[in-house]
Amino acid sequence: MIKLKSPEQINRIRKASVLVAEVLSELQKAVTPGVSTLELDSLARELIQERNGRPAFLGYMGFPGAICASVNEAVIHGIPNKKPLSSGDVVSIDCGIEFEGYYGDAAVTIPVGTINSQIQQLLDVTRQSLYLGIDQALPGNRINDISQAVYGHVKQHNYGVVRPYCGHGVGIDIHEDPQVPNYVGRGPNPRLKVGMVIAIEPMVNLGVDEVDLLSDEWTVVTRDRQVSAHFEHTVAIRETGPEILSVCDN
Ligand code: MG
Ligand code: MG
Repeated sequence: MIKLKSPEQINRIRKASVLVAEVLSELQKAVTPGVSTLELDSLARELIQERNGRPAFLGYMGFPGAICASVNEAVIHGIPNKKPLSSGDVVSIDCGIEFEGYYGDAAVTIPVGTINSQIQQLLDVTRQSLYLGIDQALPGNRINDISQAVYGHVKQHNYGVVRPYCGHGVGIDIHEDPQVPNYVGRGPNPRLKVGMVIAIEPMVNLGVDEVDLLSDEWTVVTRDRQVSAHFEHTVAIRETGPEILSVCDN
């Protein structure tokens, strides 16, 4: 069931989402060769606590981190660990925060040091596909309009699109209906209505579409072990069009 949010509820979801944006912005500054994803996780815990939020992923179905930190071939759900990042790596950081009972969710893939132009282009195209998807988050459109915008842009560049994981409704819970796939499938295709709040989150691979689950039962990796990118925003559908909630000034 899709839960429509009142303007007052959207204001509260915005507060949580702005905190996510602030935390991601601070983490981005901390990403440098030599830092580990466990150190980034500790920093995230401090930043979230300072803001009186709660890391929504910590303990969610048993997940051990405050953030998901997925390096290179890891697509999503990477568990923070002690291995130092190296120049040329990319790390996808996904952060969800509960603030006063409401949730925001966003992700960004961050270059470590200097990355090659092929990987930079993957990041650029994935970010562009997110914004093209957001442009379609209009009342009267359908979920598939978002999916098609993301998929079409990604496939123009011959990248892989992850199918088993997708975007979702968000706000009152961290994961709500509807699903927001990054491809056009045969699943539910509800019409977008004012008051819907969704997380749009393209997961795009340099190589093949297919992914595998590692034996830690969390980390999703590309089957060909080529690099993957992930960008996500929490977006409200307003009368005037999409409003990106997970943004901040810095
Ligand atoms: Mg997320
Ligand atoms: Mg999400």
